Amino acid sequence: MQRLYDSRKRILITGGAGFLGSHLSDRLLEQGHEVICLDNLFTGTKRNIDHLHAHPRFEFLRHDVTFPLYIEVDEIYNLACPASPIHYQHDPVQTTKTSVHGAINMLGLAKRLHCKVFQASTSEVYGDPSVHPQPEEYWGNVNPIGIRSCYDEGKRCAETLFFDYHRQHDLEIKVARIFNTYGPRMHHADGRVVSNFIVQALLNKPITIFGDGSQTRSFCFMDDLIEGFIRLMETGPDVTGPINLGNPGEFTIRELAEKVIEMTGSDSEISYQDLPQDDPKQRRPDITKAKEVLGWEPKIQIEQGLERTIAHFRELLPELKVVHGV
Ligand code: NAD
Ligand code: UDP
Ligand code: UDP
Repeated sequence: MQRLYDSRKRILITGGAGFLGSHLSDRLLEQGHEVICLDNLFTGTKRNIDHLHAHPRFEFLRHDVTFPLYIEVDEIYNLACPASPIHYQHDPVQTTKTSVHGAINMLGLAKRLHCKVFQASTSEVYGDPSVHPQPEEYWGNVNPIGIRSCYDEGKRCAETLFFDYHRQHDLEIKVARIFNTYGPRMHHADGRVVSNFIVQALLNKPITIFGDGSQTRSFCFMDDLIEGFIRLMETGPDVTGPINLGNPGEFTIRELAEKVIEMTGSDSEISYQDLPQDDPKQRRPDITKAKEVLGWEPKIQIEQGLERTIAHFRELLPELKVVHGV
């Protein structure tokens, strides 16, 4: 599309009212672009984008990506999809539809507009990995019929569609495989480990460790991740991904619980509970490719990131006490 102001782009973000989408909206507006934030508000909230409504370059569009969309934009970031297990398992059929039909619609839109399209894929495409850490070449170990499959297989199929549109229609695609990311505006009740532990610690409630807590995850702070998104989008047409974006610092879930208790000064005890089905035992990104191709690596240490996330949830404490009946 021929723009009036050359460097200013009109950028569509699907899932723009969610945790990551709202931070991406902030960053792109700061860079001087126009942002169309599309969301059906399934897990995202108006509160995440409240501060943007008066912004002259910001527009909110309530829409479900599983339906076609005819608008004019210069770039698309496709983030729409519930990301936490309790949310994506709430309506698993809709989760797969969101990933698959959503990808088809956004790829169809990008094809008509001849514009770049970014896909928020996930480390879940590696499933319960038998290769550690996970490089992009690893094909994964995913159960196709389990309770996580709606998310994992939906995202895998979306990747397939992205690469077929690239090969068949010469579309410029950018596929990022995102590893666990945390920060302010995570949903307080989405059951993800960082938000769960912080909320439990602030409310002095038991910290729920699933299994024995020896499983590992690598946690990336959202500022670092958003920088990776933008760098990937700015690459030339030969860079398609998939490219891992995440923090290689690996912690056991027990270590995370101890860190959160210490940093919040909480009196919470640890409560061990059953490990959910198909819970991956370990996960850590190999980010060699991101370093080489994007010159990107995370800069924010877990303590700094946790401090900012704890501060965010502390502000919400009066409300959280009501919601959690404390
Ligand atoms: P989130 O749940 O906060 O955001 C997802 C957003 O998508 C929400 O605002 C939700 O309302 C919206 N949405 C869901 N279904 C939709 C539909 N059918 N139509 C329109 N909007 C819809 O989650 P997040 O953590 O911000 O994740 C954003 C993206 O990044 C997701 O695609 C997720 O799979 C991916 N991702 C996130 C992580 C992470 O650790 N946060 C890790 C890997 C991948
Ligand atoms: N689509 C859309 N907006 C557009 C163009 C296409 O939402 O501007 C959707 C539409 O639902 C279409 C899908 O994207 O079915 C795939 O588009 P494509 O052109 O690849 O396929 P076709 O239109 O032939 O089905
Ligand atoms: N987890 C936990 N207690 C919680 C929430 C999660 O021990 O209250 C564990 C969960 O079983 C998993 C890890 O923490 O091993 C990360 O879970 P999350 O849902 O945040 O992300 P994912 O499993 O998708 O990586």
